[in-house]
Amino acid sequence: MAYDPNNIFARILRGEIPCNTVYEDAHTLAFHDIHPQAPVHILVIPKGAYVSVNDFAANASDTEIAALVRAIGKVAAAAGVAEDGWRLLSNVGTNGHQEVPHLHFHIFGGRQLGGMLPRRD
Ligand code: AMP
Repeated sequence: MAYDPNNIFARILRGEIPCNTVYEDAHTLAFHDIHPQAPVHILVIPKGAYVSVNDFAANASDTEIAALVRAIGKVAAAAGVAEDGWRLLSNVGTNGHQEVPHLHFHIFGGRQLGGMLPRRD
């Protein structure tokens, strides 16, 4: 899948659309999800133009990868969920139900999150 420079997170990164920022560094931005599904629901994204984990793992620099992983840890700690537990999720592609084609990790926390996936039976 090619990167679409007009996706909503690219527009946030360019300052065309506001977001509720919780963390920013040279390579990473984190902001509150606009439709939170838990008391804590934060998105962590790279500033680089990567569609998904597939793209990021193959093409991002070690510096970008380290920055994103460290940002996730910092954001979770700052959100106060590190002690009680939380969930890190990245949806990829059609089967993963990815809606925004710019890599993002969801941080969920603040309540009991239940099983990992809904049952199909
Ligand atoms: P995904 O299905 O993993 O691609 O999730 C995309 C997420 O982006 C959803 O949880 C949306 O609520 C969230 N989202 C979409 N637009 C915005 C926005 N402008 N600001 C913050 N979060 C957004």
